[in-house]
Amino acid sequence: MPEVTELPLRKDVDPDLTWDLTTIYQKDSDFDVDFKKVQKQIANYSQLVGTLANSAQSLLTATTEILSGARLLYKVYVYAQLKNDQDTSIDKYQAMVAQASDLSSQFSGATAWFDPELLQLDKQTMNKYYNEEPKLREYQRFYDQTFSLRDHILSDDVEHVLALASDVFDSGEKTFGVLNNTDLSFPVVTDEEGNQIKLSEGIYGVLLESADQSVREQAFKKLYEVYGQFQHTLSATLTTNVKQHNLKANLKHYDNALQAALTANEISTDVYQNLIDVVNEHLPLLHRYVKLRKQILGVDDLHMYDMYTSLVGEKSPRYTFAESKKIARNALEVLGDDYVSHVDEEFNQRWIDVVENRYKRTGGYSSGTYDTNPFILLNWKDNLDNLYTLIHETGHSMHSYYAKNNQPFQYGDYSIFVAEIASTTNENLLTNQLLDNPDLDIDLKKHILNYYLDGFKGTVFRQTQFAEFEQFIHEQDAAGQPLTASFLNDSYRKLNKKYYGDAVVSDAEIGLEWSRIPHFYYNFYVYQYATGFAAASTLANKVVTGSQQDVDDYLSFLKAGSSDTPTNVMKRAGVDMTKPDYLEKAFAIFEERLNEFEKLVTK
Ligand SMILES: [Zn+2]
Repeated sequence: MPEVTELPLRKDVDPDLTWDLTTIYQKDSDFDVDFKKVQKQIANYSQLVGTLANSAQSLLTATTEILSGARLLYKVYVYAQLKNDQDTSIDKYQAMVAQASDLSSQFSGATAWFDPELLQLDKQTMNKYYNEEPKLREYQRFYDQTFSLRDHILSDDVEHVLALASDVFDSGEKTFGVLNNTDLSFPVVTDEEGNQIKLSEGIYGVLLESADQSVREQAFKKLYEVYGQFQHTLSATLTTNVKQHNLKANLKHYDNALQAALTANEISTDVYQNLIDVVNEHLPLLHRYVKLRKQILGVDDLHMYDMYTSLVGEKSPRYTFAESKKIARNALEVLGDDYVSHVDEEFNQRWIDVVENRYKRTGGYSSGTYDTNPFILLNWKDNLDNLYTLIHETGHSMHSYYAKNNQPFQYGDYSIFVAEIASTTNENLLTNQLLDNPDLDIDLKKHILNYYLDGFKGTVFRQTQFAEFEQFIHEQDAAGQPLTASFLNDSYRKLNKKYYGDAVVSDAEIGLEWSRIPHFYYNFYVYQYATGFAAASTLANKVVTGSQQDVDDYLSFLKAGSSDTPTNVMKRAGVDMTKPDYLEKAFAIFEERLNEFEKLVTK
């Protein structure tokens, strides 16, 4: 009988490999104390209602009261969340999460009046206030974010109706979720060892990495057979979703749904348009990569289901956690002593929960708040992927660290648009560092280049393809084109052909891909993966090849938190994301590494 290795229980994990949450609360009863404090503060908010127009002092009091409540609430919330994630089987911490989440809803309810009341204050009043009470200026950007939406806020009655109808508006996404996660049932397929496996979205991803083309083909055909049966339902759920975006954009006086979605995050539509234009100009690079893939795999016909199997063999180089920390630290040295000293804190002062234990939450993330360390959850395995995850999450944690230590609470976080830039810059620094080793083994070099190229393909090209499709269907609906299944299938297949080129056979099934992508329900979200990866490639290159000033600029981006708009914050790092240059630079790096990989594998 083969030995069954079972995961350790939480209590049996080496404490050095766990995060130290006593730095948040010494004991659980300290959580209760803060919990009650927040409750009490929330109860007092009703006294602040209707006071903002009284005086500058009243506005300051209301603002600081609400922000201090939020600050403590986040601390309470993070503690509950982390405690529960490390072992999800404990009732006490499940209850703590439920309590914290309930407290958070209470907080939202008790402060919902603030923005509408603030919007009643006109520019003149605000200027008068800033003169009377200079302390208010610290919150100017915080207020301006609300004021910037002024032209898009409708009368109280209409806003009220829209809020009441939000459940109805979300029905397309909800129906898609229920169908996709629960009701859809997939057939059994056979893997390369002859095992019968019931297909699912998760298993599909694994089977597409199989070295056996017939296994990949079977998974692909069987999966799309099921989506094909439901294509009309799925076009209806997607239509509902697109129509709600278009309707709301129209009601709120935006030019289109794209502008509405991006304005909420202070991003101009140029950023989006540049991405799509520049990626389109560089599609010949993707076509070249696809051709190379066909050549390496040695297949007569290359299909979309051949896009994920490894080009360099299945065995990943092995890295232990201890080795990975050393390599990551070396790669990050280019960011200077200060940065590395905080990485050392992260590595040596138990900010990371490293190994898997029974009932621990899967995956990896960086999480924390203004008054806690930026903790990292991992489920460690000794491979290249995990080395990259470590340095990626370290990027998030250092960003959080610098933001909260250089900004007041109201600007001590950062927007989603810039979040993945700090993490992916670190990944790119690692790639640079690994490739820079003059004694690098050829096989390892192939692995690293393949990892980078696949990452670029999956992030920059694929997410932009999604972004382009998302924009297209919103425009088509706005122009009165019914989004029927056949229209969506044809459009998607055409777009896919444009992206991947002639080297890949355009199977009819790929036209159905739109029907299974949850991201099409996220309201113009995915483009940020592509812009983030491209900006990170450019930044890593600037840091490695540039001067001290480039490093300082990079750190000032991390320190800026949300004290300015996301695109202005990026300008401090020396990247203007409203212009196409940063994308051009990223493609130049991609091309260089594609050349190198091509040379290595065709030798
Ligand atoms: Zn991330």
